[in-house]
Amino acid sequence: MIPASPFAAADPRAACQALDAADPLAPLRERFDLPPGVIYLDGNSLGARPRTALARAQQVVAQEWGQDLIRSWNDAGWFAMPKRLGDRLAPLVGAQPGEIVVTDTTSLNLFKALAAALAIQHERDPARKVIVTERSNFPTDIYMADGLARWLERGYSVRLVDAPEDLDAAIGPDCAVLMLTHVNYRTGRQHDMAALTARAQARGALAVWDLAHSAGAVPVDLHAAGADFAVGCTYKYLNGGPGAPAFIWVPDKHQAAFRHPLTGWWSHAAPFAMMHGYAAANGIGRALCGTQPVLSLALVECGLEIFEATTMEALRAKSLALTDLFIALVELRCMMHPLDLVTPRAHAERGSHVSFVHPHGYAVMQALIRRGVIGDYREPGIMRFGFTPLYTRFADVWDAVDILADILDNETYDAAAARGAVT
Ligand SMILES: *Cc1c(COP(=O)(O)O)cnc(C)c1O
Repeated sequence: MIPASPFAAADPRAACQALDAADPLAPLRERFDLPPGVIYLDGNSLGARPRTALARAQQVVAQEWGQDLIRSWNDAGWFAMPKRLGDRLAPLVGAQPGEIVVTDTTSLNLFKALAAALAIQHERDPARKVIVTERSNFPTDIYMADGLARWLERGYSVRLVDAPEDLDAAIGPDCAVLMLTHVNYRTGRQHDMAALTARAQARGALAVWDLAHSAGAVPVDLHAAGADFAVGCTYKYLNGGPGAPAFIWVPDKHQAAFRHPLTGWWSHAAPFAMMHGYAAANGIGRALCGTQPVLSLALVECGLEIFEATTMEALRAKSLALTDLFIALVELRCMMHPLDLVTPRAHAERGSHVSFVHPHGYAVMQALIRRGVIGDYREPGIMRFGFTPLYTRFADVWDAVDILADILDNETYDAAAARGAVT
């Protein structure tokens, strides 16, 4: 899949369509219900709806809840869902069965993973009290780490690093945990998980990874990287639906030592024994807390099923071809405009979205959305374009850039556009 051909072709849009015709992943688009007239480049923020999700929601509401009522906790497998979905997600991130539960939010799961990691480190070396992360990390990750450190008091703190090159110096003898997001939400920059994990562990720290922009977007092999804990989203590239529960990975090597402070009954060894004392479940069940949102959980499965029709390697090849084509076309057709690429060009350092800065980034994105090209905007000035290889076509890339060039050439954006609550 070499996207150079559209440039040489007499009819470049037809050349993009030819790439689609030759794309072995093209049929997967049929597994989604996308509205007509929309080029959806925001699967990095809210994945599109799998076709099966509507019928599944109806089944859960009408049959499992409506008719079968409380029996569905056992008979429809509601109670087992966090683990069952975790096992289904596991191959996408290089995890083993019994190491992931789909539950709670990414923020909450990060709190649990960090708290457990700090507790393990406290046993080994109580002088390690620093969580190292990047200032450019997604704010909730920093808020949660900061909140945990403040809650614990006793000298715990968060150390923010401004550039990846500075991580090395920041992982000192006081570092308990290196907490990184694998693919940066703004720039789309991807870290070398294996190298950074090895560096942290060589210095006596544990490595906690946030896979929010990685799961279902880029190949991840947590075991090969030797990572310690991981969390991630299901409503982004995994297409689980708005607000779908997140996931947490606790590898076998840490399960016996894994203790988190949200010791709700779903994490108990025998929740329905209604015992007086708390005893953590054996295995990944101890990462749960309380009753889960069954409707949302059920829909996560519709997204995960689709991945079983392909491989992350095939998806990655198409994702890189799409983002390469997008970058090249924007730079060619919008070269007269003040657009700056903030996403790495090197494949190994790129996730599955591309970001350009423009002085009127917010207004230009609003104009794009009005024309049916849906990306999103992140401060400061960053237009984000997500490329989900499951349903994005090469012709979509051509059309999106065509519309962007038209908006910029004719200045059909409102530089004073008011911001919505969600950008
Ligand atoms: C999207 C995202 C989140 C979202 O957290 P929620 O608790 O699900 O709202 C967290 N961290 C990162 C890095 C993200 O990209």
